[in-house]
Amino acid sequence: MMNYRWRGVIEEYRKYLPVSDKTPVITLLEGNTPLLEARNLAEYISLPLRLLLKYEGANPTGSFKDRGMTVAISKAVEEGAKAVICASTGNTSASAAAYGARAKLPVIVIIPKGAIALGKLAQALLHNAKVVAIEGNFDDALRIVVEISQKFPVTLVNSLNPYRIEGQKTAAFEISDVLGDAPAFHALPVGNAGNITAYWKGYKEYHQLGINKRLPRMLGFQAAGAAPIVEGRPIENPQTVATAIRIGNPASWKFAVQARDESGGLIDKVTDEEIIQAYKLLASLEGIFCEPASAASVAGVIKKHKEGYFKSFEGETIVCTLTGHGLKDPQLAVETAPATFISAPPDLEEVVKILGL
Ligand SMILES: *Cc1c(COP(=O)(O)O)cnc(C)c1O
Repeated sequence: MMNYRWRGVIEEYRKYLPVSDKTPVITLLEGNTPLLEARNLAEYISLPLRLLLKYEGANPTGSFKDRGMTVAISKAVEEGAKAVICASTGNTSASAAAYGARAKLPVIVIIPKGAIALGKLAQALLHNAKVVAIEGNFDDALRIVVEISQKFPVTLVNSLNPYRIEGQKTAAFEISDVLGDAPAFHALPVGNAGNITAYWKGYKEYHQLGINKRLPRMLGFQAAGAAPIVEGRPIENPQTVATAIRIGNPASWKFAVQARDESGGLIDKVTDEEIIQAYKLLASLEGIFCEPASAASVAGVIKKHKEGYFKSFEGETIVCTLTGHGLKDPQLAVETAPATFISAPPDLEEVVKILGL
């Protein structure tokens, strides 16, 4: 029997990360998430490429944020932090709260009131973070936590913290380790733009080290109502059903543009309808329950495929990151699901009749 145990992203990729023997490793054994082939979906949309899904919802707190948080919290402890703070559309706060609890570090979370999926709020509260809901949006929350971290002895763990990006780049390593090289394309949702920055950094490092022979084209997708990079200007009042990417002024804007341009990729937008359609297709055709923001990557691939973008890339591999777990936002799932339940009396004949058997 194989006796190998995954040890979390810091131990697995230690030599590529800014840690030393003195760094206390705070981990929930994040990473090692499934890379799934989506044959049914590829067939359904007649995509002549091999479509793979990096299912980051399988991380301990249900999103990719754990990869960055294990490094950010470990370094915060190493550097003697007394508390950490973040602004969040939900998943950063869930992850910070969990890793902070494990590190016995107080966690402060500032969220936009009423704009956080229920599962994420539940996580932050149950892990006992100090949660402040402001009457504003994510961009307001980020501005406030940046100032607090400059004025008070609390460490910022948003993706402005470079340790977050370092941890998140390990997803590109995992994909490359499985495939033996980088894919031809890598698609992902873009919110604050930390993740596209991190993936591109990871792919470039593996390429520079000669581990990968090629670099992927990075395809970033924003929600149409929250697409500052596509529009070329900050969006004052971003709107989208995909709350995790409801961001009007991304912190890593220029790095996202750099990833796009250096890789020969693109950043485009997808409508909420396209996002929900992809979300439902993933659930019904592949058995994958991701959150709406995650489905923006697949929605983007469907859109670009319709435009003929992949025409000369038959047989190539494309990876879509599914950033978070669908259970984060059960409300939306119930509202958009194709199925509903049927009420029945506790009677065999009645149930059989309803089922039409
Ligand atoms: C944070 C998050 C995003 C956006 O990632 P950025 O690094 O902010 O671009 C997308 N989807 C989910 C589920 C997230 O939690």
